[in-house]
Amino acid sequence: MPIEFQIEATHSSARAGRLLTPHGEIETPVFMPVGTVASVKGISQDLLEDLGVQILLGNTYHLYLRPGIGTIRHLGGLHRFMSWPRAILTDSGGFQVFSLNELRKVNEEGVTFRSHLDGSSHFFSPEKSIEVQIGLGADIIMAFDECTEHPASRERAKSSMEMTLRWAARSKKYFEEHKREVPWESQQLSVVSREREKEQEQDPQQIPHRAFNPVRNDRELAQSLFGIVQGGMDVALRKESAERTVEIGFPGYAVGGLSVGEPRQLTREVVESTLQHLPADKPRYLMGVGTPEEIIEYAHLGVDMMDCVLPTRAARHGLLFTSQGKVSIKQARHVKDENALDPNCSCRVCRRYSRAYLRHLYAANEVLAQVLNTIHNLSFYLDTMRQVRHSIRLGEESRFPTGL
Ligand SMILES: [Zn+2]
Repeated sequence: MPIEFQIEATHSSARAGRLLTPHGEIETPVFMPVGTVASVKGISQDLLEDLGVQILLGNTYHLYLRPGIGTIRHLGGLHRFMSWPRAILTDSGGFQVFSLNELRKVNEEGVTFRSHLDGSSHFFSPEKSIEVQIGLGADIIMAFDECTEHPASRERAKSSMEMTLRWAARSKKYFEEHKREVPWESQQLSVVSREREKEQEQDPQQIPHRAFNPVRNDRELAQSLFGIVQGGMDVALRKESAERTVEIGFPGYAVGGLSVGEPRQLTREVVESTLQHLPADKPRYLMGVGTPEEIIEYAHLGVDMMDCVLPTRAARHGLLFTSQGKVSIKQARHVKDENALDPNCSCRVCRRYSRAYLRHLYAANEVLAQVLNTIHNLSFYLDTMRQVRHSIRLGEESRFPTGL
């Protein structure tokens, strides 16, 4: 059976709940850090676990090119390869392929593109994307869609949406025929309860095996394929795309094609109107957003899952998110500042180091600067979501996190 979704509390449009996947339980709304090439840049898997990351996103395009699906499948799938026992979601590769403006050619069958690594020619179709994602073995995989460029005329957005719908049906058909081929299927994974996970953690002998040989229970969950709503910035097309994607039928739905350069107010309008046309009892995933303020806002509109490279990418550029706003750690004003980066953050970086030291590491181009900045930014995002979940359960409005 596919993943299970349980809504446990609501507050106006917001929902707090649990998503049960073959690799554990996820509390929603959830923020998913991006691990592009089977790595969240600058941070190890054990630290991600300590930070409370429940699900990671992997990029199919990058993993397909390097190290290649044959290699990952041979090594037991993405979870085992990268030693990540918790849930993983992979994108379809579509967004990256469509970003290769000069290097791609699209037709009904699929997309021919050139690798950004060595210029070699490749072809992705809905069938190919699903085959690759089954080989990677993520818990949640995505239908192959065309991310409509912005701005686009209504005609262009409409024809692109129609093709995404045809590709959604093809993605589902291929998935239904091949879903038993996940690399971990033979291991018969199933949900591990938190209690059982804790028991195993207390027994050090069990730890090396814990990740990949979870205990069986009565709920056998399988890999799940989500559909994606497109339709550009046109709310009528978004409605049609949502309704027809729901007709095809998926255990979860994503809103794609946003955060592509449109004004933020427009993103919000499109998200809000699109969510109304998606089933309330299925998880809703908003792709590629956003700032800490935005993820709070979208969770309040009823989004359950979000991913973004912003916290990790900004960290590597010395841009840090704090309860007091953005901090550019490279600025000279931090040279002698003995204060913590964020007095309201309890992450291991804010507990231990001063702004002066973080500024020095960045100025000296030390690798540790990237590591520490990434740990803080991810902690901040995860704490923000924790606070949002808490507020929904208490029936309160979420505010920007202070005093975490
Ligand atoms: Zn911190």
